[in-house]
Amino acid sequence: MENCLFCKIAGGQIPARKVHEDDEILAFHDINPARPVHLLVIPRRHITSLATATEADVPVLGRMLAIANRLASEQGSPDGFRVIINTGRIGHQEVQHLHAHIVGGPEPVGPMLKRI
Ligand code: 5GP
Ligand code: ZN
Repeated sequence: MENCLFCKIAGGQIPARKVHEDDEILAFHDINPARPVHLLVIPRRHITSLATATEADVPVLGRMLAIANRLASEQGSPDGFRVIINTGRIGHQEVQHLHAHIVGGPEPVGPMLKRI
């Protein structure tokens, strides 16, 4: 996918601090971390968002979560973590390539969202 930031990271055209790489998934540090541990896990293949994922993407989505669990422990959040997949306009998704944020660290990340 031309002009997709995360496709360029997956293709090695833009550098990233990678923590996992295999033939279908890549994980790297978020450039602007919100917590001491803030990783992004992406499929190498361009999927715009969770809203455009299909049944065919179930295996890669499952693997992304399994890798997230392992990386959270390895990267400094062994007692739990939060997975966030911002989706579409309402979900405030800024990069239009599906990605799971893994956030955590030594301290609790806090309540999920401010209540309405
Ligand atoms: P979104 O709002 O789409 O869920 O999250 C996009 C995330 O990508 C943000 O947390 C932002 O800091 C991160 N990000 C944006 N540009 C880059 C970049 O060039 N490299 C890395 N590693 N992360 C980026
Ligand atoms: Zn892409």
